Amino acid sequence: MEDKRKIDCIVRADYVLPMDDSFTVLTDGAVAVDKGKVIEAGPYEEISGRYAPEESLGGKNRALIPGLINTHTHAAMVSFRGLADDLPLKEWLEQHIWPAEAKWLSPEFISDSIELACLEMLKAGITTFNDMYFFGDAAGMATKKLGMRAVLGAGIVDFPTAAAKTADEYFAKAEEFVKAWKEDELITPCAAPHALYTCSTETLRRARRFADRFEVPIHLHLSETEWEVGEIISRYGKRPVEYLDRIGFLDRRVVAAHCVWLDDNEIKLLAKSGAGVSHCVESNLKLASGIAPVVKMLKAGVKVSFGTDGAASNNDLNILSEMSTAAKLHKAVSGDPTVLDARTALRMATRWGAEVLGLGDITGSIEEGKAADLVVLNLEKPHLTPIYDIYSHIAYSLRASDVETVMVGGRVSVRDGRLCCGDESEIMEKARGWGRKIRKRPNDL
Ligand SMILES: [Zn+2]
Repeated sequence: MEDKRKIDCIVRADYVLPMDDSFTVLTDGAVAVDKGKVIEAGPYEEISGRYAPEESLGGKNRALIPGLINTHTHAAMVSFRGLADDLPLKEWLEQHIWPAEAKWLSPEFISDSIELACLEMLKAGITTFNDMYFFGDAAGMATKKLGMRAVLGAGIVDFPTAAAKTADEYFAKAEEFVKAWKEDELITPCAAPHALYTCSTETLRRARRFADRFEVPIHLHLSETEWEVGEIISRYGKRPVEYLDRIGFLDRRVVAAHCVWLDDNEIKLLAKSGAGVSHCVESNLKLASGIAPVVKMLKAGVKVSFGTDGAASNNDLNILSEMSTAAKLHKAVSGDPTVLDARTALRMATRWGAEVLGLGDITGSIEEGKAADLVVLNLEKPHLTPIYDIYSHIAYSLRASDVETVMVGGRVSVRDGRLCCGDESEIMEKARGWGRKIRKRPNDL
């Protein structure tokens, strides 16, 4: 008998969902993992007959999915969660969030906050996030420490912040950041001009040239509020997407967060350009920004994925709940319960998320040669029993606490629901320390 090939790991599950085009479900399936990559996915009998693993994970009453992708967040804002709520976006930003950021942002703040955010995301089955914030080096190091994959955007605005004072300084820092991280296995650096109302035409054009020169994604907020659309029309005489099209900004490198206020022509322009959209449904609901025309976008061929936005406007980093909320909301507003079905929702949360970020060759599905970014779900729960359609349970019933094991690039980050590349209590204690400093009444508990 031929010797079995020695590999790092086999992950077994009752349901393996590779997230291919035909939504295959491998029952009693397994995935062979070696040197950080998926070697093969197939029936457990075949996989176990071919490979001798160092370690076995998963098992009975388990499901295995690709890691979830969060395509828009400001991860470090977990430290501002609950600081100010129930306010309009403009007031919330200008009177609460921006002043708090001006006062507290530093590499130490970012590092501690990113660790907390990564802990929350990993435990909810997220393996990749797309971030827009400042102090990217500190964010990159903290993200790697917890073993997550991320696209980290160097934030660019036209006004001074704790990170830089002028457009030249923002771009100089962005260049330094991109050069330092371009070859990293887990971190993809990118350019992140904040939005059309905070960046001039020249800054946006410069960010576009920057993304082309370094071949990196370009991440911005787009048409989040009705106010923004009015503001851009009054400045440039065009709606936001039309204006971006006119200045030659749009293409498939662009990750546009929100896209709530689009007319039909703008949806066509987005589809034609290949730009990806991050739908941040819970943030849009909480800030009463509106409801993005996701069904129309999907019909037009726009690639739509899910983002949580920052935890200060959501208030958690949980793609499972974004999926569930979006799938239900769009049925209600369109009056059609067949739209945004469970399969589409999970595809948006995995493969399309990776494709929107330009990481489609690396992650987002369980395929030979792709990184082993895998999530084992524990189905031994009352709310997941019995099972008729595993996609239905994942889209509508699954909770973050059902995530059992998380692997990023073949490295196990969460085992039995606990972080195994850091100390959960220590991370939360540091966060409580920042909370005590930030809160207005220092004598409170
Ligand atoms: Zn945002």
